[in-house]
Amino acid sequence: MTPTSTEETGTWAESARERISEAGLRRSTPRQRVVDLLDQQDCAITALEIDARLDRVGRATVYRAIEQLEELGLVRKVDLGGSAFGYEKVEPSGHHHHHIVCDECGKVEPFEDDALEEAIHEIHRKGFKLESHEVTLHGHCSDCD
Ligand SMILES: [Zn+2]
Ligand SMILES: [Zn+2]
Repeated sequence: MTPTSTEETGTWAESARERISEAGLRRSTPRQRVVDLLDQQDCAITALEIDARLDRVGRATVYRAIEQLEELGLVRKVDLGGSAFGYEKVEPSGHHHHHIVCDECGKVEPFEDDALEEAIHEIHRKGFKLESHEVTLHGHCSDCD
């Protein structure tokens, strides 16, 4: 899949900042730190991991920030199997990936598949208006085989 040009669409962190101020939310340093951390991730990170990585923010503030970002459509919740959830940025370009989860150790790997995306768009064309889709494959990784 072709990488998205940051020149055309701007970075996720920039568009997040815009959406946040459009939504009339105060500029808040803790929220900005959550945005910056999410921006550095290539895949989903759990709320606990975010909390552990950010000193002096506080778990309640981290959770509230994630919730607001999710409400604004800036991050999506990713089912990591069991009762675990992660969060990852929603690229303004629509570029995205899906996940393979090891049900033994919980390892998560992103994957992209153009043929899969094509098949999903085909369903869209058949008259069902798709707003979003999430594909999570479950199995065992090579370490847990
Ligand atoms: Zn991911
Ligand atoms: Zn997809």
